[in-house]
Amino acid sequence: MNKKRIRKLNKKDYSSGPVIYWMDRERRMRDNWAFVCAQKCAKQWEVPMAVVYVLPETFLDSAWRQHHFMIEGFKELIKDLEEKNIPFYMLLGDPEKEINKFVEDNEVGCVVTDFTPLKLPRSWRDKLEKSLDVPFYEVDARNVVPVWEASPKQEYGAYTIRPKIHKKLDEFLDDFPNVRKIKEKWKGKVPKIDWKEVEDFLKVDKKVESVDWLKPGERAASKVLSDFLSNKSEDYSEKRNDPNADVLSDLSPYLHFGHISAQKVALMAQGHETFLEELIVRRELAENYCFYNEDYDSFEGFPDWAKKTLEEHRKDQREYNYSLKEFEEAKTHQDLWNAAQMQMVKSGKMHGYMRMYWCKKIFEWTKSPEEAMEIAIYLNDKYELDGRDPNGYVGVAWSIGGVHDRAWTERDIFGKIRYMNLNGCKRKFDVQRYIDEWL
Ligand code: FAD
Repeated sequence: MNKKRIRKLNKKDYSSGPVIYWMDRERRMRDNWAFVCAQKCAKQWEVPMAVVYVLPETFLDSAWRQHHFMIEGFKELIKDLEEKNIPFYMLLGDPEKEINKFVEDNEVGCVVTDFTPLKLPRSWRDKLEKSLDVPFYEVDARNVVPVWEASPKQEYGAYTIRPKIHKKLDEFLDDFPNVRKIKEKWKGKVPKIDWKEVEDFLKVDKKVESVDWLKPGERAASKVLSDFLSNKSEDYSEKRNDPNADVLSDLSPYLHFGHISAQKVALMAQGHETFLEELIVRRELAENYCFYNEDYDSFEGFPDWAKKTLEEHRKDQREYNYSLKEFEEAKTHQDLWNAAQMQMVKSGKMHGYMRMYWCKKIFEWTKSPEEAMEIAIYLNDKYELDGRDPNGYVGVAWSIGGVHDRAWTERDIFGKIRYMNLNGCKRKFDVQRYIDEWL
């Protein structure tokens, strides 16, 4: 494994005790560099290893739908880990407190975790960095080129990060080792997980129900990938902007929950360049933005040219002005927008092309870019299976604040931010068919 994927977050040295992988973002056993790193440490020191997950009672604006997807994935993961002699602990509560307590109670000698650029889970890592008394490692198991290796700063756009990523693909796009069975036996007691207790513990909106068209877990993710490669990938370049065509991979929920590794997908999808551009360059550009810009979810994060033009158009008259409730209930004047909202509410996955249109219209039909950001992020995080993700924050910031985009011809409300309209959609695809399907 390439050591540049690993960062040591504190200065403590290993003395004795088992290793834990504090699994946070990458909820899989296979093709997971953080898991590989924890296993290597356990092997080197000839000690047992456990996987620990800490579930907080809420996470950003996620609801029952996303928690259901995650929990069902865990059920499969736990069985796979058992076969390798690796216990899995599900702790409920605040991650920093629970990890500290677990380390103390089990005399753990080393903690390995996975990487995320988002503020809330980074704050857990920041606190643990200070409070843990044992070595604490973070592994970028999300990106093909680790975010800190791709670039040391916030990039302007795909055109600036693309050459940097491509230059390093040979170094990082390597295959994964097989997961080996652990010989050393874990000494602590491993309580059986009471899933009812887990469900009751969660303080999330249970009215946002689970969906059944997409099965969670590592195996289901592999099947969805195979289906994409066998049946959809040939048409991806040409039809990916047609919301009526079923050519997208549908991998984003799996990537988001860490049920599949983007690197594994990239290895399997060699030759499909348009798809690889989205999967690697666009996705890793979003990771770069959130990692280097703390304001990734607000107006403050926008580039200067965008802030300036939005300020100049702040007072422009809005023809429509909807509240969160009206948006949420799909009660705007426009069937196409309402259909997109309903696709998200019903299925948990709006088509990629419609996400751009949906968000730009939220901006056009609210009082300010700040309010539009808030509404778009709230709805995206609450209903999309793949929400609460760097891709989501960047998608919203691209739509409203020109992030990673350039200035376009100036117009009302949008200023120089790229505009999208209904006629553009009509030219691209059968709008009525999409409306009939979702409204
Ligand atoms: P495919 O087209 O099959 O793409 C494969 C993978 O490439 C995706 O899973 C994703 O990881 C990556 N990818 C594709 N398009 C983009 C993109 N524009 N930017 C970055 N990575 C991309 N994506 C999320 O994962 N979560 C979100 O919450 C999210 N919210 C969005 C909100 C808005 C307003 C916009 C404009 C985009 C958003 N996206 C989000 C990005 C993109 O729309 C989705 O990743 C894509 O539609 C997911 O479907 P798929 O996996 O079938 O895509």
